Amino acid sequence: MRRVLSFFREIDRTSRAVRRDGFDRARSVAFVLAFIASPFVVWEMQERVVVRERQDLMFIRVFRMSESGEVKAQRVDADDLNGPWAVFMPMAEVTLVERSEWRGWPLTTAHTFEPTELDVRLVAGCPPQELGQVKLAASRLVERSGLSSAAAVSQTHVAAWIFSAGIWWMLLSLAAAMVLVPIKLVVTLSRRTRNAVRQSRIDRCHCPNCDYDAKQSILMGRCPECGSELYERPDRS
Ligand SMILES: [Zn+2]
Repeated sequence: MRRVLSFFREIDRTSRAVRRDGFDRARSVAFVLAFIASPFVVWEMQERVVVRERQDLMFIRVFRMSESGEVKAQRVDADDLNGPWAVFMPMAEVTLVERSEWRGWPLTTAHTFEPTELDVRLVAGCPPQELGQVKLAASRLVERSGLSSAAAVSQTHVAAWIFSAGIWWMLLSLAAAMVLVPIKLVVTLSRRTRNAVRQSRIDRCHCPNCDYDAKQSILMGRCPECGSELYERPDRS
């Protein structure tokens, strides 16, 4: 144990102290703020980014038997939709539709399935007053199929929420760092330039502040022109 401690003390003693300037602190603050903000961003994305989908669950043809006059509904495959009507008096093509909403970015954090509905297209020549009978026949068939649902189903994805918050945390921190880097570059460059100018004036026994030739008053230590110190140490950059 003692050896371990002295080992770390040795590392601590021989390693150079890391100087943290204002920019490093700003980045740390941005990192923490991004962590706090990320759930709110995920929530906002869930409100704003909505993808609506329509899924056709079932295709139905409604027709009237020519002899009995009975209205009947028959399920057809999607491939057969463009095929000829094998039966007597076509009335309507009906689709059982399920609409859904997918919310959130970059991951889907919530989705909703709305109650299924019937999308009815009457065949040309079928009088509109037959619509009621068409719907009745189609909904009976749908009920038997068990594919329909009367209630909306909503679901929140917890894992997607956590992952999305993590992604936003990283993105916001990265954005803050990318804003800070050019500012830091400009500040460092201007400080270096300023130091170089002042150092060259000091080297020539001029006042670092106003460039007054101070060879005569070097012993006074102060510039007779502007009163600033002649031997000031330049800022460290
Ligand atoms: Zn001066």
